[in-house]
Amino acid sequence: LPQRWDSYREPLSTALREAGIDFDLRTEFAPAEVDYIVYAPNSAVQDFTPYTRLKAVLNIWAGVEKITGNPTLKVPLTRMVDEGLTRGMVEYVTGHVLRHHLGMDKHIRGLAPGDWPQDFPPLAQDRRVTVLGLGELGAVCATTLAGLGFDVAGWSRSPKTVEGVSCHHGDAGLKAALTHAEILVLLLPDTPATQNLIDAEALERMPMGAMIVNPGRGPLIDDEALLAALDAGHIGHATLDVFRVEPLPAEHRYWTHPHVTVTPHIASETRAPSASRVLAENVRRFEAGEPLLHLVDRTAGY
Ligand code: NDP
Repeated sequence: LPQRWDSYREPLSTALREAGIDFDLRTEFAPAEVDYIVYAPNSAVQDFTPYTRLKAVLNIWAGVEKITGNPTLKVPLTRMVDEGLTRGMVEYVTGHVLRHHLGMDKHIRGLAPGDWPQDFPPLAQDRRVTVLGLGELGAVCATTLAGLGFDVAGWSRSPKTVEGVSCHHGDAGLKAALTHAEILVLLLPDTPATQNLIDAEALERMPMGAMIVNPGRGPLIDDEALLAALDAGHIGHATLDVFRVEPLPAEHRYWTHPHVTVTPHIASETRAPSASRVLAENVRRFEAGEPLLHLVDRTAGY
């Protein structure tokens, strides 16, 4: 029952047909007839109890925080890993990191006529960037930034090897990752372990004037601590795509803060043609008794 269902009907039908599945795609149904739910987190389905023959829930978003703790869900839950979603995120992250690295705002806003300050930005090799979260999205963003020459560090829960990236993990690794972060990119999921990770102490560890790009999730950041660090000038700018409450309430200080850029949760989107192939492959796998792709670890919460 995905959001913008119409864009899925044709590609999902094609993908299911190509996967050899005998299917009946519906948006109107009696719960007891349903085998698989293609799920968007803003879907009307919150109580899975009436879905007595349900085999699996296939989430079309990468983030699963709105469903993973649902106690009525007793069947496997998968998340979305989609090449369209990944490419979109790489473009968003690269664009915003380059904006901050090059100091583009000054020239977009415009110099005073006659002003000619020749402040050259450093080369990327002299700019330290940290990506928190080295999963499907974070790892590709980190390697892309490293490919542009940036000095990139990354951080994850378990040890990782990502080409061209200095990888840290666990509590001990976080300090080094933050100290490195002249530009910090947040691509962590929203779980009990990651909420308020970027608090006053974490912000304090970052270099003076550091910039933040958050397309991960709003609760990763302690908003009051970030506003205080922005006001004090310790953090130079924050580009925020995700918030605790969305849409971001009109009275929120982020809207008017001179050093905050708000984007309305548009960093990236699951693309129906490529995502449909992933959904169909998972239906095929479940029917064939094979392991599902991109299964959510419901204990870890992502
Ligand atoms: P993944 O699950 O593939 O990766 C998550 C990464 O975070 C992994 O590297 C994981 O570590 C790490 N991580 C999780 N918990 C911790 C922790 N407690 N400490 C340290 N590291 C941790 O997710 P994706 O890369 O696919 O997506 C990341 C997030 O991006 C999504 O959860 C979603 O919130 C957000 N998103 C936002 C979009 C937007 O438009 N704004 C679009 C799509 C996604 P490990 O590798 O060890 O498991």
